Amino acid sequence: MGYFEKRSKINALNPIYPIYPTPLCALFCIRCTPPERLKELVKHECLDGMKLEFVVSLSSTCNLSCSHCYLDKKSPAQLSTHDLERTANDFHPYKVNFFGGEPLLYGSLERAFEIFSGTPITISTNGILLPQRIKLVEKAEAVLCSVEGLEQTTDSIRGRGVWKRVMKGVDLLKERGIKTILRCSYSRDNLKELPKLASLAQKLEVGLMLFPRLDKFPLDIEGQLYLFELATKHDGVWVDQVNYWTWLGKDSYCPAGDRRLAISCDGEIVPCQWSEYYLGKLGDDSSIVHENAKTFVQAFKHPVEECYRCPSMATCKSGCLFSKAYLGCPLAYNAGEKMTALNSFGYNVVRGKVDSIRGLLKGVVVC
Ligand code: SF4
Ligand code: SF4
Repeated sequence: MGYFEKRSKINALNPIYPIYPTPLCALFCIRCTPPERLKELVKHECLDGMKLEFVVSLSSTCNLSCSHCYLDKKSPAQLSTHDLERTANDFHPYKVNFFGGEPLLYGSLERAFEIFSGTPITISTNGILLPQRIKLVEKAEAVLCSVEGLEQTTDSIRGRGVWKRVMKGVDLLKERGIKTILRCSYSRDNLKELPKLASLAQKLEVGLMLFPRLDKFPLDIEGQLYLFELATKHDGVWVDQVNYWTWLGKDSYCPAGDRRLAISCDGEIVPCQWSEYYLGKLGDDSSIVHENAKTFVQAFKHPVEECYRCPSMATCKSGCLFSKAYLGCPLAYNAGEKMTALNSFGYNVVRGKVDSIRGLLKGVVVC
């Protein structure tokens, strides 16, 4: 189905709102929301006085070779403990994510925990080394273990036997009472196996965070709604996208540059771990990094045209900069209330869902 056909179909669901562009737009205007109005609506919160969360890529080394891996394995790099001390002392993060490569391979992991002691720490791991590192991992607020779907899909991307090793690690985490979240990337390719994965996560009583594969084309409206509804029906499952929260009726935002900074394993500071936008290097004056972050936010964090008529545009600002989920966002097409969770599930279910996921995410750094 073509772009305009799709929009017409959505328009038919909610004829109160004309779908942009209408023939009148061509005559009178080219935008539903003029830029001056946008400026008023979209306030940038830019670091000033904000508490910051940090994603810290301890090292680029890894013990797996996933087929979609983006790391440059030929020139491995890692942060020194001095770099970690600078991060803690210069930026005083209020929560931290140990990221990689594979963070459990980092030789000074114990010291890393000491440096950020008193700060909730999330670990994003492939799960392979959990049995060997469990004593240290116990100090974490939460552990995110990556999978790609069910066993066959996970093993086809991550390597033979990986699924079973991850599940063994999950059992161990649960035994120790550590908050455990499966992190699964989604795309068109694995959408149909996600209901079984969601049921499994619910049965295991672990969280399941669904995050888009950034190297794949975003889901269309039908795909996003399917996923949103699936997540809402299962305990502990959520779609880690700004527009999922909007669909649930809650304001949400992408923290990159405003409330999140990330340190790459060679000491560069960027707004988000997926970004290459250079804000500075560890050791730079933190006020310069803050200024650069402000410039980043002002230059790049604007809603795209698709979102101009969404009531949540001022907070969501088209969501994740990298996943481009706005391309298939149900709210971008102004499909109206018929496509929000409140209309599908009712107030109590939605309220319960929001509260339970917020509880699960307390102190945790995700996406
Ligand atoms: S929403 Fe996307 S861009 Fe924003 S912090 Fe998360 S992963 Fe980064
Ligand atoms: S339409 Fe755009 S601004 Fe609104 S929720 Fe969707 S992605 Fe966010």
